Amino acid sequence: MGKLFGTNGIRGKFGDELTVELAVKIALSIGTYFNGGEILVGFDGRVSSPILKRAVISGLLASGCNVAHAGMLPTPVLQFGVKYFKYDGGVMITASHNPPEYNGIKVIGPDGIEIPRREEEKIEEIFFENKIHRAAWNEVGRIKEEPNVIQAYIDEIIKQVNVRKIASRKFKVVVDPGNGVSSLTTPIVLKRIGCEVITINDVIDGKFPGRGPEPIPKVLGIVSKMVSSNADLGVSLDGDGDRAIFTDEKGVTHWGDKSGAIIEKYLLQREGGGIIVTPVSSSKLIEEIAMKYNGEIIWTRVGSVTVSHKLKEVNGTLGIEENGGIFYPPHQLVRDGTMATLLMLEVLTHEGEGLSKIVDKLPRYYNYKDKIPCPHNLKKKVMEKMLLEVKCEEAVKIETIDGIKIWKDENKWVLIRPSGTEPIIRIYAEAKSNEEAKELVEKYKEKLRGILA
Ligand code: MG
Repeated sequence: MGKLFGTNGIRGKFGDELTVELAVKIALSIGTYFNGGEILVGFDGRVSSPILKRAVISGLLASGCNVAHAGMLPTPVLQFGVKYFKYDGGVMITASHNPPEYNGIKVIGPDGIEIPRREEEKIEEIFFENKIHRAAWNEVGRIKEEPNVIQAYIDEIIKQVNVRKIASRKFKVVVDPGNGVSSLTTPIVLKRIGCEVITINDVIDGKFPGRGPEPIPKVLGIVSKMVSSNADLGVSLDGDGDRAIFTDEKGVTHWGDKSGAIIEKYLLQREGGGIIVTPVSSSKLIEEIAMKYNGEIIWTRVGSVTVSHKLKEVNGTLGIEENGGIFYPPHQLVRDGTMATLLMLEVLTHEGEGLSKIVDKLPRYYNYKDKIPCPHNLKKKVMEKMLLEVKCEEAVKIETIDGIKIWKDENKWVLIRPSGTEPIIRIYAEAKSNEEAKELVEKYKEKLRGILA
C-alpha cells in the first residue's frame, strides 16, 4: 500500500506533489476516518494555505463531517482548540519550517496530538483502496466559524506561569516570528504578562522574506544584534509557531537542547523529579541534568509526534527536541513555541540572572552533523550492513531505537540515521570537544561511503 504521511503529516510542493485535487481526496479520506465527526480546521500564513484550506474543507464536508473554521493560527493553537473545545479531530494546513513553495496537511486527534502512525495507516487504506465515504446531497456536512480559538488559547496559556512574578521583572523581549503565524499569539501573550516586546519579521508573509521559516542560528544575526544592544532575551519561532530558539542577552543564540536542558533543570527541581522524554538525537546534556535532579529519561525515535504520544503514555513532565521543540503537558502534550518562551521567562525570573550565565553553568558538549546522499530503496540494506560492521567495533553500547547510535564512551556517541523524507542518511555526533565530534562524523561518513560503493 502507498504512503501519504511523513514524519509530520503530509508534505509536498504545492501544485506538484500536493495539488488541490489531491487535497480534496485526502480530506475525503480523513473525513471518512472521522466518520461524520466535528472537525476544527486551521491554516498557516503560506501563499497556498487559503486554497488548500478550501479544498480540505470541501473534502471533509463531502464525506459528511461538520467543519468548524478556526482561521489562520499557529499549529499549537489549533491543537489546543481541538482539545479545549472538545472537537472530534482537527486538520491543520501547514508545512511548518519548510521552504515557501511547500505545504502540508496535519491530522489532529481529539487529544490535540497528531494521530499516531497506526491511525495514519487507516487513512492511507481508505485513500488507496478507495474506501472513501461520499455523503448523499442531503447528508453533506455543515460549516461554521470558530473565531474564539486564539483568545481562549491566550487566556489559558498565561495561567501556566506566575504572571505577577514575571511581570515584576519588566523583561524586554525581542520576538521574531519569521513572518510566520506566531505573530498572532507570541507577542500578545508576552505583553499580557508584562513584558516589553520588540518585534521583527512580524508581518505574516507566505514568502518568508525576513529570514526564512526555519530559526537556525546563522539566519538570526539581526535578532542577535537587537538583543545584545537592548533586551533580556530573544525568541525566534518557526513558520507555524511550535518551535522556539532563544538568544541570550549577550546576543548568543543557543540550540534547542541547551534551552531545553535549562527548562528541564528548573522543572525537575520544582517538581522534585519527573520523567523527561526526548529523541535519541538529543544531547547527553539532557540525560546528565535528569540524573542530577532526580529525573528519569526516556529516549524515543526522532519526531515530535512520537515524543507527544510517549509523554501521554508515561505521564511525563517535559518533552525536549534539539530543534527547539518544548512539550509541557500541563498546557498541552504537543510542542509549543509560546509555552517554551513563557517557561524560559519563568526560569530567568527564578534564577535572577541572564540566560548567558545560566547556559555557562551547564555541562559542555559539542555536536557535529553531516549527511550523505542515499537513495530510499538502498537505506535499509545500507543500515543492515552498517550494523554488522559496527558490532565488530569497540563500543560501550549500541542502541537501535532509531538508526544506529554507537556510544564510544559515556560522553561520546555517533548516530547514523536515514531521513524519513529525504534521500539522505544523517550522521550526528557528540563529544567533549568539537574536534572529537567532527572526527567521529568523518569516520562514519567514510564507512557509509564504503558501504554505498
Ligand atoms: Mg513547526
